[in-house]
Amino acid sequence: MSTTPACPQCTLENTYPDGANFVCGDCGFEWPQAETAATGEDEDAVVKDSNGQVLKDGDAVVLIKDLKVKGSSTVLKMGTKVKSIRLVGGDHEVDCKMDGGSFMLKACFLKKA
Ligand SMILES: [Zn+2]
Repeated sequence: MSTTPACPQCTLENTYPDGANFVCGDCGFEWPQAETAATGEDEDAVVKDSNGQVLKDGDAVVLIKDLKVKGSSTVLKMGTKVKSIRLVGGDHEVDCKMDGGSFMLKACFLKKA
């Protein structure tokens, strides 16, 4: 490994790895290597539907099974069409608005319409 990132504090590139950290030779700033490597990984995670199609904000989707809404007696029926989804992070990746309100759904129970 011959490349180290520029120092986040002084932006100079006189840096070197030291154990689990990078160290800046100019200002002495130390920061963990792991944090640098992980940056941006999660934010660009691709959300795919049950067929492996990539979903985007504004896509229309159809439910492929009945889904109980957590904390209520509402059941979203299989075949229900959702006009415009919004992708969010986390366990339930898809946020959508329907007649009954706003719901968080798992992409694996949806297919692109
Ligand atoms: Zn520095």
